[in-house]
Amino acid sequence: MIVYLGIGANVGDPLAACERAVGAMREIPLMEVVSVSSWYRTSPVGDEGQPDFVNGAAEIKTGLSPRGLLTILKNLEAELGRKPSRRWGPREIDLDILLYGQEVIREEGLTIPHPEMHRRRFVLVPLCEIAPYVIHPAFGVSVRGLLDRLDAEGRVERIARGVRC
Ligand code: AMP
Repeated sequence: MIVYLGIGANVGDPLAACERAVGAMREIPLMEVVSVSSWYRTSPVGDEGQPDFVNGAAEIKTGLSPRGLLTILKNLEAELGRKPSRRWGPREIDLDILLYGQEVIREEGLTIPHPEMHRRRFVLVPLCEIAPYVIHPAFGVSVRGLLDRLDAEGRVERIARGVRC
């Protein structure tokens, strides 16, 4: 299955945290990192009184189920030092499942496509870099199309180049 992940952090050295997360993903069996977007410095959304975030997106190939993948990502967040925080609050690392193939999943604790992805410039800009023509299965619109239609504000500045694996 081809899966797209959102990666973000805004505590300590957020760029290093995001790069560490990708490095750790490469070590996980049943998960192949196919490509990683550039990293972007982005303004916080929802709770403006906190440091800027670093955000990016990754394409992975995996045999893990959506639940299995979520569990692994949550464990990875904990390993990378994520502490409990309020919604929209600062975070050491945040790993989200944006798209899991063309599946639409609405279960307790797991919604795919990620329910906020189409509203967030800091998600769509990096995702568009690696997957502009991938279709959002609930809307039938490409990532590029979602970004073109987005009127949300938000500063998203590229800070580091991506890696094609
Ligand atoms: P977050 O604060 O962004 O790490 O997300 C908190 C919770 O959102 C997680 O513990 C998940 O149970 C839930 N969640 C629901 N849908 C998703 C998704 N697509 N990707 C990641 N987490 C999700």
